[in-house]
Amino acid sequence: MNYKDYIRVIEDFPQPGIRFKDITTLLGNGEVYRSAIEDMKVALKDKEIDLIAGPEARGFVIGAPLALALGVGFVPIRKSGKLPGETVEASYDLEYGKDKLAVHKDAIKPGQRVLIADDLLATGGTIATTMNLIRQLGGEVVGASFLIELSYLNGHEKLDGIDVFSLIKY
Ligand code: 5GP
Repeated sequence: MNYKDYIRVIEDFPQPGIRFKDITTLLGNGEVYRSAIEDMKVALKDKEIDLIAGPEARGFVIGAPLALALGVGFVPIRKSGKLPGETVEASYDLEYGKDKLAVHKDAIKPGQRVLIADDLLATGGTIATTMNLIRQLGGEVVGASFLIELSYLNGHEKLDGIDVFSLIKY
């Protein structure tokens, strides 16, 4: 399957000069969406995984079906203030200002092996922050899976040498 054919590139979104990779065109095709999740699962066949963690919101549409396919639980990583229970938080820099991500304190037990899933790896800031949260709870980050990796932004370098699986690379 040539997945790139199903990604729509939108120029100048959300800002001039950015070529946004729109995954909604892939998600809208049931056969292609299922095949993408299946291929992500196959790439992980040698990994021992207890849980998948996905950052909101597009990490949910990749991480949750991948968790179901693998038969493991899913842990939502959310913007600060959205989760109802006790949380740990970590902040990260955005282009302008800062943002915070949070996870429920009891969502990951010490020693559990956690794979991170998201739609796209750009600069790696979102995933580095997600790794920080998992590690605060004593979880072991065993890798990260993406539909898309923007290789030219070198997000990989922020990820401490963990295994990275990407279906599509630009
Ligand atoms: P990073 O933190 O790696 O710089 O950015 C990755 C996050 O930004 C991901 O959660 C992803 O959803 C979002 N993102 C950044 N650029 C794009 C893009 O071109 N397309 C999509 N679908 N998401 C993007």
